[in-house]
Amino acid sequence: MKNEYDVIVVGGGPAGSTAARFAVEQGASVLMLEKDRDIGYPVRCGEAVSRAGIEEFIEPDDAFISATIDKFGMVAPDGTEVVLPLEQIGYVLERRIFDYEVAKLAANKGAEIVTRAYVNGLLFEDKKVSGVKFEHKGEQHELKAKVVIAADGVESRVGRWAGIKTYIDFREMESCVQITASNIDVDPNTLLFYFGKDVAPEGYFWIFPKRNKSANIGLGVSGEIGKKKSAQKYLDEFMNNHYPNAPFLTQIAGGVPSSITLEKISAPGIILVGDAARQVNPLSGGGIVSGMIGGKIGGKIVGKAIKNNDLNHILTYDKAWGDRLGKRHEIFDRIKDGIYNFSDEKFNSIAHAFVKVPFEKRTLGKLFKTALLNKPSLLIDIAKVFIVK
Ligand SMILES: Cc1cc2nc3c(=O)[nH]c(=O)nc-3n(C[C@H](O)[C@H](O)[C@H](O)COP(=O)(O)OP(=O)(O)OC[C@H]3O[C@@H](n4cnc5c(N)ncnc54)[C@H](O)[C@@H]3O)c2cc1C
Repeated sequence: MKNEYDVIVVGGGPAGSTAARFAVEQGASVLMLEKDRDIGYPVRCGEAVSRAGIEEFIEPDDAFISATIDKFGMVAPDGTEVVLPLEQIGYVLERRIFDYEVAKLAANKGAEIVTRAYVNGLLFEDKKVSGVKFEHKGEQHELKAKVVIAADGVESRVGRWAGIKTYIDFREMESCVQITASNIDVDPNTLLFYFGKDVAPEGYFWIFPKRNKSANIGLGVSGEIGKKKSAQKYLDEFMNNHYPNAPFLTQIAGGVPSSITLEKISAPGIILVGDAARQVNPLSGGGIVSGMIGGKIGGKIVGKAIKNNDLNHILTYDKAWGDRLGKRHEIFDRIKDGIYNFSDEKFNSIAHAFVKVPFEKRTLGKLFKTALLNKPSLLIDIAKVFIVK
């Protein structure tokens, strides 16, 4: 480790690694600090992405692809199942390998990475962030940086330490639980979504297939619903009803900020990327690709600011993010508000309308038109935002 860096990135998830990579590519000296022992582990994610989404950053590789997705399935509350072919394929990843590979892209360009490094405070100079405090191997350290990139995920504290308003309403924080189960008999190429008040009120229930008959199975419910009945209870009931004998390989719980991006994601000496900035797509809950996009935009801007010795340039990041995705997320957020209030009858009627279209004619475009008759453009968007960037 040097005594000082141009850029310190806090958090080695996909957003942090991507920010590190694009900052280092501009010639900045970059250090990324990750609190866990391993990059990419533990995994708290359904792992679904669009191919187009990840291709912007990394060549798809079998090493980190667990399943290839070409269909979207919807199960209505009355059990009607409709499967739509997707025009653009997607993947269910092995994130413990994917995150590792994304971090290597930064490391191979020259970024330094230290794991087991827990950032527990910020340094300030003239009210401007000027570095981090962190614990590593039982010792407390302080390191200066021209810019800190907070990529510390959903539970982010770094932004708050910098005085940025990171609070989001608990109703917008989806509380999610998921298991990875094996010996599950599902179509290996379909992302399956269940809707309805008995399985996932104001949210959805997912089954994302993985290789060798395993699948990520979980749900997210809003903070409001979770107060009455926990997501874990819904998951237990579903598994007892559908897969009572399936062995569980992993069990996780985590929050997904299903909100629009924070009002401010930069301040003197610091920017926020990924979940820390609330860059998750609020409709789908997908945050891998959007976090990497945030990381790319942020990393490039920070790198440029350092190259040109113009640190105020980092404050252009908010607008650049808004133009690329932030404004789109505002639309998704409005759609989410509409869809989460659909009654069971509404979901049933949408499924009944879709099911009449022969499978081979179910192109997204045609189904989109059919969908609009019943106003379910919102449902198609769910497929699109998971599978299309
Ligand atoms: C149950 C569940 C299912 C999901 N399913 C999907 C899905 O199917 N598709 C999708 O696209 N998204 C999904 N998401 C969302 C996705 O996981 C996140 O949006 C994504 O991981 C965000 O990436 P990130 O780099 O911002 O944060 P993270 O991946 O959370 O990385 C943050 C990193 O920062 C580290 N860190 C935190 N604090 C500190 C500190 N103080 N010092 C040092 N390091 C620190 C953490 O250890 C972590 O490694 C899901 C989330 C959940 C909870």
